[in-house]
Amino acid sequence: MEHTPAADIKWVNAGDEHFTGTVFFGPLSAGPDRSLNALGVLFEPEARTDWHSHPDGQVLYIVAGVGKVQKDDGETVRLSGGDVVYAAAGEKHWHGASETSFLMHLSLTTGRATEWLPEKVSEQDYRRG
Ligand code: MN
Repeated sequence: MEHTPAADIKWVNAGDEHFTGTVFFGPLSAGPDRSLNALGVLFEPEARTDWHSHPDGQVLYIVAGVGKVQKDDGETVRLSGGDVVYAAAGEKHWHGASETSFLMHLSLTTGRATEWLPEKVSEQDYRRG
């Protein structure tokens, strides 16, 4: 067993290549098993991912704040603490904070890399929710 104190989690700025706004990653996969990727993600208000998919799907557990998730078909769902989202393998989507609140979620994926699509989330799509 390993215990990692919160102060030892090395949160990093996620950068702007695949995100709009300011996003931080906290790597939580402490063990040697690289088949599990557990990531804390903190979005400032209005920050969100670009459109993307996950080769083996993704579970999001909303820890705190208010956010949005949108699938390719245009449906936008509002998220708040305690909610769970499952994105199936290959399902195109984005997720992020609401206009007025931060969002923190836990992301659970396999070790296979996210497949980023070239387009940012448009303001029209973002405001829709
Ligand atoms: Mn995702």
